[in-house]
Amino acid sequence: MPAEIRVFRCLEDNIGALVHDPGTGACAAIDAPEEGPIITALEETGWRLTDILVTHRHRDHVQGIEALKLRTGCRVVAPEKAASAVPGLDATVREGDTVRVGDLSAHVWETPGHCRDHIAYWFAADGAVFAGDTIFTLGCGRVSESSFADMWASLVRLAGLPDKARVYTGHDYTIANARFALAVDPDNAALKARAAEAERAKTEGRFLIPSTIGEEKATNPFLRAGEPAVARSVGREGDDPQVVFQALREWKNRF
Ligand SMILES: [Zn+2]
Repeated sequence: MPAEIRVFRCLEDNIGALVHDPGTGACAAIDAPEEGPIITALEETGWRLTDILVTHRHRDHVQGIEALKLRTGCRVVAPEKAASAVPGLDATVREGDTVRVGDLSAHVWETPGHCRDHIAYWFAADGAVFAGDTIFTLGCGRVSESSFADMWASLVRLAGLPDKARVYTGHDYTIANARFALAVDPDNAALKARAAEAERAKTEGRFLIPSTIGEEKATNPFLRAGEPAVARSVGREGDDPQVVFQALREWKNRF
């Protein structure tokens, strides 16, 4: 049976997600930014938490773990490289591992860039990737610890997923990301339409998560570093896309 997925806001701009296997009743939270909204989502759905799958060790992704584990006895799975920083850890995973949530399964991809220990969970059969703080709707995470080359490689790998793959992100920065994307790529009609859609969603209390790989490839400036118009926006026309990516990311940090 296909996974059921619920997304909701946590803290100020984090996104919580629950992945439920209707066949076995297993249910995983992707990261644990905040206990309260996760409990509310569990109550509203009637799902029972069995697992927490951690994408990376940053506090706003792990600070709800202890309380949730105490309450539910759930299993905590986290990147091997983050093991010393994740509370309540039961299992570690690395590149090439498979994580099961009931009968659902996710491939573990190491996606360094935002931080050294970052991983993504690709539920291939369900066409859903939980990308944490690697990619955002119309944006990408800040680069720290790892190199720009690492981050670029992680983004290229995610961009290689099928266009219809749904992308679940760790934060909702869509409105701010859209402003930057329009500064980079002002003649992109698909981007203009999407930015307008993001504004409309905001007024209706919605957000554009999940996105899809196809939508991101068409509108996300960081995935479009290989486009001449995008390279031109940072004075890097003809340069390697990775160089363009770094220039874009540095511009976004100042934007
Ligand atoms: Zn983070």
